[in-house]
Amino acid sequence: MDDRTADTKALEPVPAQRTETAGPPAAEAGGILTVDLSALEANWRALQRRATPSECAAVIKADGYGCGLEQVARRLTRAGCKTFFVADLYEARRLRAAVADPAIYVLNGLLPTTAPAYADIRARPVIGSLVELAEWDAFCTGQDWHGGAALHVDTGMNRLGISANEAAALAPRIRAENHGITLLMSHLACAEAPEHPLNDRQVRLFREVRLHYRGIPSSLANSSGVFLGPTAHCDMVRPGAALFGVNPTPGRPNPMRPVVELHGHVVQLRTVPKGETIGYDAAFTARHATRIAVVAVGYADGYLRAASASDEQPGGFAVAAGKRCPIAGRISMDLLAVDITALGDHAVRRGDLVTLIGDELGVDEVAAAANTIGYEVLTSLGRRYHRVYRAG
Ligand SMILES: *Cc1c(COP(=O)(O)O)cnc(C)c1O
Repeated sequence: MDDRTADTKALEPVPAQRTETAGPPAAEAGGILTVDLSALEANWRALQRRATPSECAAVIKADGYGCGLEQVARRLTRAGCKTFFVADLYEARRLRAAVADPAIYVLNGLLPTTAPAYADIRARPVIGSLVELAEWDAFCTGQDWHGGAALHVDTGMNRLGISANEAAALAPRIRAENHGITLLMSHLACAEAPEHPLNDRQVRLFREVRLHYRGIPSSLANSSGVFLGPTAHCDMVRPGAALFGVNPTPGRPNPMRPVVELHGHVVQLRTVPKGETIGYDAAFTARHATRIAVVAVGYADGYLRAASASDEQPGGFAVAAGKRCPIAGRISMDLLAVDITALGDHAVRRGDLVTLIGDELGVDEVAAAANTIGYEVLTSLGRRYHRVYRAG
């Protein structure tokens, strides 16, 4: 098989309009998760336009923010995305099996002894410390490997990355010896709060570091960073969450299209008499005769228990028969209860689907009800759902 055949085979696209499914059959699953791949592509294109002339990469760690690494990667590759970021080598391996050509960076960097595995799959570590750099250098020199790596410089996040001073000291050596650094990178800590003074400090410090690394492409912005404007764009932007519909501009209208919908099956309906409690810990009291739809989605499916409702505190919502209805009581492992008293008598029946995440109930709102962020809602999405990848 010559190279050309190999490439064609690996890149063989899913036919344009085909809807792919995964997981158990819809009728047997407690919940049905729909991932709108055309909305995903539209989001990537919108971010690309906003960041032009910079390259728009895609961060698809944590199984593509819970949406399915392979499906997401194939769609974005076909749309023209040339660079992906994942968290670890295992994700990189899965990704390489799905897409032949794009560059793959591994954000968590180099764990001891793993350098050969990077070469095997043509992945690039994001080097975050001098120890990692030494190890990578030794490997590259020993094996004559020129597959590339990113150098991560910490500009205020204090998580991964060498310091700005270390980066400056290192620069002459890196430039002279051609260590195969293909990307200079840093990460913003507060990009979703545009007025936070740390943004400016990080942008300015990174600009200084970049001066020492002229000729090497640089990248700073995550999703929200794309909306901070051109000074944060550098040569490449690295959005993740916004691709999947999380609002990168909290407090302002969401510029992204929703990508994820979650529907749960109603397994039973019941009326709880006034004064009785609903669910574990008897935390929720029916203040009047309450009509309940029991839905087969729980915290084991990633529907966060923190969205439970008690007598003290309201919780999340579901949309049943077109109306927004409150969750009643604790979220269980496999079930949750929805108060549908406000609906007509036969508005909801056994086997019906209620919406848990959908257009009228965005990922960010669902997250807020659980006191968290859309990122956590997405990356918690369960493995028991019937999954529909809408391609059209
Ligand atoms: C996760 C991550 C991103 C993407 O962040 P979003 O806020 O999801 O856009 C970019 N860069 C690094 C280093 C990350 O860890």
